[in-house]
Amino acid sequence: MKAQDISREKSAELFEKAKKYFPGGVNSPVRAFKSVYGTPLFIEKGDKAHLWDADGNEFIDFCCSWGPLILGHNHPAIREAVQAQLGKGLSFGAPTLLENELAELILSNNKYIEKIRFVSSGTEAVMSAIRLARGYTKRDKIVKFEGCYHGHSDSLLVKAGSGLVTFGETSSAGVPKAFADETIVISLNDKKALEQVFVDFKDQIAAVIIEGVPANNGLLIQDKEYIHFLREITKAHGTLLIFDEVITGFRLGFEGAAKYYDIQPDIITYGKIIGGGMPVGAYGASAEIMSNISPDGAVYQAGTLSGNPVAMAAGIAALQVLAQPGFYEKLEKTTQQFVEEIRSFVTEKNYEVKIFTVGSIFWFAFTAQEKIQSAEQIDPASMEKYKVMHRELLNRGIYFGPSGYEVGFISAAHTEEDLNKAVTAIKEALMVTFEG
Ligand code: PMP
Repeated sequence: MKAQDISREKSAELFEKAKKYFPGGVNSPVRAFKSVYGTPLFIEKGDKAHLWDADGNEFIDFCCSWGPLILGHNHPAIREAVQAQLGKGLSFGAPTLLENELAELILSNNKYIEKIRFVSSGTEAVMSAIRLARGYTKRDKIVKFEGCYHGHSDSLLVKAGSGLVTFGETSSAGVPKAFADETIVISLNDKKALEQVFVDFKDQIAAVIIEGVPANNGLLIQDKEYIHFLREITKAHGTLLIFDEVITGFRLGFEGAAKYYDIQPDIITYGKIIGGGMPVGAYGASAEIMSNISPDGAVYQAGTLSGNPVAMAAGIAALQVLAQPGFYEKLEKTTQQFVEEIRSFVTEKNYEVKIFTVGSIFWFAFTAQEKIQSAEQIDPASMEKYKVMHRELLNRGIYFGPSGYEVGFISAAHTEEDLNKAVTAIKEALMVTFEG
């Protein structure tokens, strides 16, 4: 049975005001709730796995700020680390001990990179990695995959996922043709397309970039064999392989998708989790590749707020928890149990929905297909079902991201009680989605 709509009065009022200030009333497009029901919820506070909006509605949060909050909201160790730093200063634009500490924590537990550079967002990390690849190889072209989102820098806003696919506009206006021409887009999970691109653009491709596990256009889990093929073909052509681990880094494990696939990428980008909820991104590679970055080398990249001390303090506190033995195993097990319960329900009911999952990431796909590994396999019409489910979930106190192309996350703060409550609500929401 359909649940009664929650009150959105206060949120609606705030949204009307916000529309006067910001394009579409928001500072990042998907937040506008354009592809789901109703006005966006204005969030007042979060604690552990729970969120409260301006109308006083309480939700169990499966969006987790789009991934960074692997420890939930208001984690005591992160809060205390940030508070301790606040009294010492917010920004110096000069080196601090905290940058060393976060770098040491990452590098000593990650065999895939030898040096790292901190920036302030995932977009900045990937934009810088692309420049580094171009500077290092002295080539211009890059290859990306349809549906993979790598932030909003010009070269990468071509056939991208996330907000672009949500709004049915896979490439952005305002990107000069000359830039877009340097970005070649091919389908995921297509070895032939990959071989052909190296024939068509022989000795011109600086880098191939792929999301560790593509998670911005649904969750498109690639076969290990395909990723190894990608590694071999790039190596054979002197092309760098960039793993964009902004979502998968420190989410699939401390060593992210590189470890998951057992692959040595040439450059890895990070974001989200490494800031513990504060704005941070990073890119890393071998010492040899990183020596091309200024001031050691000729590839320029800088930032007033890079390595910001408050963000570093939050990141250190977060990663110290994640580095503890058994952290990821436990989170993964919890996720599996959660997903399995829903899977057995949908199988029993014979509903046309699949729940794909990797690590503590999950995605509801309204499809009969057993596997979805490329963007083209997703039927945009299936998003109508997501819209119904999303409304029903919000009305039952469950917060999923406001787009069916986006994935969900489980955090260590989700308790058994939270997850049991969510499973019941999801079952009810699916019944309304499929049976009205
Ligand atoms: N790369 C990937 C894989 C992402 O998922 C995102 C953001 N979701 C970005 C890059 C861009 O990160 P940010 O939003 O922090 O700029």
